[in-house]
Amino acid sequence: MPVDATLPYDDQNIFAKILRGEIPNRTVYEDEWALAFHDINPQAPIHILVIPKGAYVSWDDFSAKASEAEIAGFIRAVGHVAREQGLVAPGYRLLANAGINSHQEVPHLHVHLFGGKALGPMLLR
Ligand code: AMP
Repeated sequence: MPVDATLPYDDQNIFAKILRGEIPNRTVYEDEWALAFHDINPQAPIHILVIPKGAYVSWDDFSAKASEAEIAGFIRAVGHVAREQGLVAPGYRLLANAGINSHQEVPHLHVHLFGGKALGPMLLR
């Protein structure tokens, strides 16, 4: 079910539980600002989610309210993970769903990092 990303942050969302260590995850990278882990239902050979450590519902919430340090730290973490996964030369795709029309399902900002094969043109049906 898509979530209404204009609602206040819900600290019972699944990624909040992952950040608190209450639910296991397959971590690929972690620093002060971000956690990156394998998506549980991968849509590509490499499908990693990168989330900020702060409590932000969506890209809108994060871009409006996060500090400069949080934004820089998160963006750098996404780039770091892509490099670490060897995706720069072959290429990769980033995607952040935000709100109902995007079908965002988890109300904690996450960037999907896809790679590991030719992904083809982005198709919106
Ligand atoms: P979105 O539709 O952009 O909100 O994407 C949510 C993503 O979270 C989906 O790709 C799910 O497969 C993924 N997901 C949900 N629960 C977990 C979990 N416990 N560990 C890893 N990925 C998850």
